[in-house]
Amino acid sequence: MEGHEVLGVDNLSTGQQRNLERLRRYRGFAFLQGDVRQPLEVAVPLDWVMHLASPASPPRYLRLPLETLLVNAEGTRHLLDLSLAKGASFFLASTSEVYGDPLVHPQPETYWGNVNPVGPRSIYDESKRYAEALTLAYHRVHGLPVRIARIFNTYGPYMDPEDGRVVSSFIVQALKGEPITVYGDGTQTRSFCYVDDLVEGFRRLMEVDYPLPVNLGNPEEYRVLELAHLVKELTGSPSPIVFRPLPEDDPKQRRPDITLARRLLGWEPRVPVREGLQRTIEYFREVLRAPHA
Ligand code: UDP
Repeated sequence: MEGHEVLGVDNLSTGQQRNLERLRRYRGFAFLQGDVRQPLEVAVPLDWVMHLASPASPPRYLRLPLETLLVNAEGTRHLLDLSLAKGASFFLASTSEVYGDPLVHPQPETYWGNVNPVGPRSIYDESKRYAEALTLAYHRVHGLPVRIARIFNTYGPYMDPEDGRVVSSFIVQALKGEPITVYGDGTQTRSFCYVDDLVEGFRRLMEVDYPLPVNLGNPEEYRVLELAHLVKELTGSPSPIVFRPLPEDDPKQRRPDITLARRLLGWEPRVPVREGLQRTIEYFREVLRAPHA
C-alpha cells in the first residue's frame, strides 16, 4: 500500500467479506461497515475520498435498482461534501456505461453517448452520468480537486464467482463443466482490462491535475462468443456453449479510445487478455476448491 493509510467503507451488499481478510494484514488498513447513502462521519484527516461504491454487475444492479440510483446520487453528494469538509481531493469511479449503446466506436471521452434514460439499465447509466455532473459542479462551484475515471469492463482475481458478469460467469461455468451461457448471438463486443492495469491507471490519474473524465480500459476487443471459445480453450473445458436471450438494451459494441490516458498519464494496459484470463482462471480454481476459504 506504499505506506498509505486506507479506510475502506462498504455495506457489503455486493462485496465479499473474504476479500477483506488479506487486507487486514496491512497495518495501514482499517474497515468500516457503512453505507454512503447516509452521510459518513470520519474522525481522521483525509487526503483523498475515492467513491468506488455501487453495484457494477448488470444482474446485481438490476436487483438493487433504488440502492444503485442512490449510491451514485446521494452517495456521491455525501462523499463530495466529505471531501470539502476534509480538504481532500475526490475520485469518482465512473463507467463506460455513460456511453450507453454507443453509436461511435471506439468511444472517446468527447462522445456524449446513446443512453436509454428509462430502460432497465438507466438506474446505473443515468446515476453515473448524474454523479459525473455533480462531481464537475462541485469542482466548478467550490474549486474541489476531482478526478473521474470512466472504467471499461474489468476482470481479475477476487471477483465474485456469482456476480453474473461475463468473465466470471464463463470461467466458473467452464471450470464446473456446466454450459457456457452466451446471451444473444454473441456478436456483441466488449474490451477487457485486467484489474492490475486499471489500478495503475487510477494511481496515475491521482497524480495529474485533470478534472474531466478519462477512459481507463483495454482496447483489446472481443466478441462475446469469441470470449466463450477462449475461456473453453484456456480451461480445457468440455462445457458446451449455449445461447440465451439478450438482455434488454445490452450494448452492441464497446471499446475504449485511450488516446487521452496515453497522453495524459503515459498509461496503457500491460496484461494481454489471454494472460489475465489465465491468472483469473487460477484464482477461480482455488475458490471452487475451497468455496468457504
Ligand atoms: N453475457 C453473456 N453471458 C453471460 C453474462 C454476460 O453473454 O453469462 C454478455 C452480456 O449480454 C454482455 C457481455 O456479455 O453483452 C458483457 O456482460 P457483463 O454483464 O459482463 O457486463 P456489461 O458490459 O454488459 O456491463
